[in-house]
Amino acid sequence: MSTIVAVGSLAFDSIETPFGHVEQALGGSANYFSLGASYFTKVQCISVVGEDFPDSHLQTLKDRGVDTRGIQRARGKTFHWAGRYGYDLHDAQTLNTCLNVFEHFNPEVPEEFRDSEFVFLGNVAPQLQLKVLGQIRRPKCVALDSMNFWISGQREALIEAIRRVDVVIINDGEARQLTQTHNIVEAARNVLAWGPKVLVVKRGEYGALLFDRGEMFSLPGLPLAEVKDPTGAGDSFAGGFLGYLASEEDTGNAALRRAVVYGCVVASFTVQDFGFASLMSQSRGAIEERYRKFVELTRFHV
Ligand code: AMP
Repeated sequence: MSTIVAVGSLAFDSIETPFGHVEQALGGSANYFSLGASYFTKVQCISVVGEDFPDSHLQTLKDRGVDTRGIQRARGKTFHWAGRYGYDLHDAQTLNTCLNVFEHFNPEVPEEFRDSEFVFLGNVAPQLQLKVLGQIRRPKCVALDSMNFWISGQREALIEAIRRVDVVIINDGEARQLTQTHNIVEAARNVLAWGPKVLVVKRGEYGALLFDRGEMFSLPGLPLAEVKDPTGAGDSFAGGFLGYLASEEDTGNAALRRAVVYGCVVASFTVQDFGFASLMSQSRGAIEERYRKFVELTRFHV
């Protein structure tokens, strides 16, 4: 079992969906990723919070086995994101992004984390993603996630970061925006031509696509009777996906396919409630049970 070094945001989120809204809820890409991956392996988290961030939440992460020694506390306010989802709960419309303590963040990977072979470069500025990667001695599997904010604001820097990683995990809208191509297969070809071996395209309630060198795998979404808030689905998908690969220390095609299923399983728990309440209150048994539901859902005979 390998540990994962993960960089990402810790945030206060204000979210509106057609089914409710929350103000200043704890969130961020590092939060959702770490909680999702914690069902599979140990995460060593790199991030920054402000003076207003509650210690109790760092304790919540520690309680799930997350190593928080790489989380800096800086003077100023914690990162804040405000977003709104339409009736299809698919793409988030960003209403406001306040980088706050991320503006002057200089990530320091603790010495004890630097031998980790699995690395997750979560949704933060591309130059921060590269600063973290530069401090890892012998990375074996590096996955990167990003979003529209960085694609529109720092596209060239993001492509530079993508050239250095093995796996890119983005959603369909982001894949189109990043490659300026409408067709997803064509978009995947473009991303893989930049250097990564693997691309995962998340498709919200419709599941996910995996492009692994010449092979393609498609998983439908698990139809759920209750969906409240998709925030964190993407990052917790990445947590389940990379958490599984790191726990198996395997990045072959069969493992990648199973990892897509685990990613969708973890994300399916996240969307059932606002914030991370549902994500953090599962057990490995509940995850396995839902994994088997996917097996059932996709079983058919020739
Ligand atoms: P997702 O998993 O894609 O739904 O990501 C949701 C999380 O991303 C929220 O908790 C936000 O705090 C965080 N987020 C939104 N915009 C940014 C950004 N520009 N940089 C870093 N994190 C962000």
